[in-house]
This record gives sequence, C-alpha cells and structure tokens, in this order.
Amino acid sequence: MNWREYVKNVTPYVPGEQPKINNLIKLNTNENPYSPSGVVKDELQKLAEDYDCLRRYPKPDCDALRDALSEYMGIAPEKIFTGVGSDDVICTIFMTFFHSSLPVLFADITYSFYQVWADFVGFNKELIPVKDDLSIDINDYRKENGGIVIANPNAPTGLALPLEKIEEVLKFNRDSIVIVDEAYIDFGGESAVKLIDKYDNLIVTQTYSKSRNLAGLRIGMAFACEEVISRIKAVKFSINSYTMNEPSLRLASAVLKDEKYFRECCERVMKTREWSVKEFKKLGFEFPESSANFVFVTHPKHKASDIYAALRERRILVRHFNSDRVDNYLRISIGTDEEMKALFAALDEILA
Ligand SMILES: *Cc1c(COP(=O)(O)O)cnc(C)c1O
Repeated sequence: MNWREYVKNVTPYVPGEQPKINNLIKLNTNENPYSPSGVVKDELQKLAEDYDCLRRYPKPDCDALRDALSEYMGIAPEKIFTGVGSDDVICTIFMTFFHSSLPVLFADITYSFYQVWADFVGFNKELIPVKDDLSIDINDYRKENGGIVIANPNAPTGLALPLEKIEEVLKFNRDSIVIVDEAYIDFGGESAVKLIDKYDNLIVTQTYSKSRNLAGLRIGMAFACEEVISRIKAVKFSINSYTMNEPSLRLASAVLKDEKYFRECCERVMKTREWSVKEFKKLGFEFPESSANFVFVTHPKHKASDIYAALRERRILVRHFNSDRVDNYLRISIGTDEEMKALFAALDEILA
C-alpha cells in the first residue's frame, strides 16, 4: 500500500496572516498593540548574561513558572498546568478528556480551532448554533454530552457570558468536563477561575498572547482541580516533556511582577474599543457588544469581503472568515488610537 493511503489526512486551522510587508496596520490576529512590559527587556538582558543555561533542558513541569503563577493568582501549583500557548494547552486537554462516544458540545460560531482539534483527535462533536444575535444560550447545553467547550468572551463575536451562566452550565453538567477558554477575559469578562474549587469538572484556560502583550513567547495555562490537572500532565508527559523553552519560562515568570503595566494596557485597549464602537456605529456598522480586544462588525449596505479587500489595498489588515453564517462580518482587532484613526479614515473613503 502506498503511504498516501494511510497518511493522517487533516484540514489544518488557518491563522490570520503574518505578512512580510512593513508599514502595515495589522488588526487581524488580536495581538496587543502595545510593547511588552519593560520587565521583559530587563529579563532578556539577564538571560544574555546567563546564556549558558540554554545548554540544559528546561524543567519538564515548568515549576518556576507554576510557582510564580501560583503566587500571582493565589492558586496552589498543583492546580495549574502550562503549555506552549493556550492552543497547546487546549489541544492537550482535548486529547486527555474527550473520548466519550457522546458528542462534545461547542458553538457553531466560536474559535474554529475546536473543530480542527475535534477532527484531529477524533471525537464526536455537536455544533450548537448561536442565536441570531450571535449570543450563546446556555439552555442549549442541557443535553447529554461528552464534554463542553465555551470561549468566554466568545471569539469572533466578542460576546461575554456572565459568571452565573457559566456556573449554570457547570451545575447541569457535573459529569462532563467543561472547558472555559478565557483568552480575552482581561478585556471585560468575569473569570471562572474562582470556581475551580467548587466544580471539579471545570477547566479554565488563559494565555499571555492577548492581554499580556506576549504572543511571541507562546505561553498558555490551565486552572482546574488537582485531579484534573494531574490527568492532563500524564497525557502531556506521554507526548513531549520539554515543550516550553527556558527563555519563555523565565520571561513569563518575570512579567507577572509588572501588574501596573498589564492593567494600563488592558484599560487603554478597552478605552480605544469604546471610542471605536461609536465610530463604527456612525459609519452604519452593526456588531454585538464586545468584551474583547476586537469588534465583530457587519454593514447592511456593503459586503464584508469588499470592505476587507479595499482595506487591504490601503495596507490595513482585518480578519474575514469564509464560513457560512459569518461571511458578511469582519473581525477587527483594537489597535492603538492612531491605528484606529487610520482605519476609520480608510473606512470613510471606502463607504463614501
Ligand atoms: C488566541 C486564542 C487562543 C490561543 O491563544 P494562544 O495562547 O496564542 O495559543 C485560544 N482561544 C481563543 C478563543 C483565542 O482567540
């Protein structure tokens, strides 16, 4: 038999492009528009002095970072798991828990990586349609299932569920693992981390990529009860014990010391978002209320794909998804005030 007949045939996730051209306004991958904390620069300099440490493997269970996160979050290190971005963390969680014959439930409009992993890991899934206003109705998650995944705030809609609603999902599904993906929680949502001691079926994932200005480091984490975390670790140590590298581990611990800058950046992004939504409204755009660092907009008179192309010609990149229900929407990341002003100047021309 030729290898082509037994190769793993998968359809990979397509991330927003990282273009080679400079002078481009990049509002397509929800990165933070502000530089990382100065603490990161200091720590990089220290690392240069101590570069001999790179000769050695990093600690497999990332204990220094887990201790730093433990102190920062007030959570025991046994309840924390870290990985190479939350993508790595979530995929490892999927590989650990989703082996039931019952379907794993997640929204039809959510982070599209969930579908890719479902097909890769090979479990049943059921896509639960969001309402016409793109919101998640948690009553749709009251049915037999082999697990549940909810992004809160959801992407690409930006809509957040209040914590009581998340808790209802947890209560109703005591026998299922419920993953709450909090990639955007620092831009306005209420974190479910405080519930991990109350619900042993809850896993909360977070990332340094958006609110901590460090997408380039690839740091993600999960918080859950000790038993759940130990199950995830067993799977991780069955694949590759040394996933995160030493520089990432050191920088990720160090940056937690600069809480002030972290808060300032989040506030700036939220402030720019509040100004931007008013501008979008003036131009006739419609959008769900965003609690994230992006807005998901549609225009009643102009096709999203046309606006996307016209913006691209003007060197402004936003995200357009070619999937059924949302192909007339654009997901626009919140940049700096100057970047957003340039965006609105371009939109003024395009929609005129
Ligand atoms: C960006 C994003 C992630 C992945 O983040 P990384 O930590 O960079 O891997 C996970 N979930 C959602 C909903 C995201 O938007």
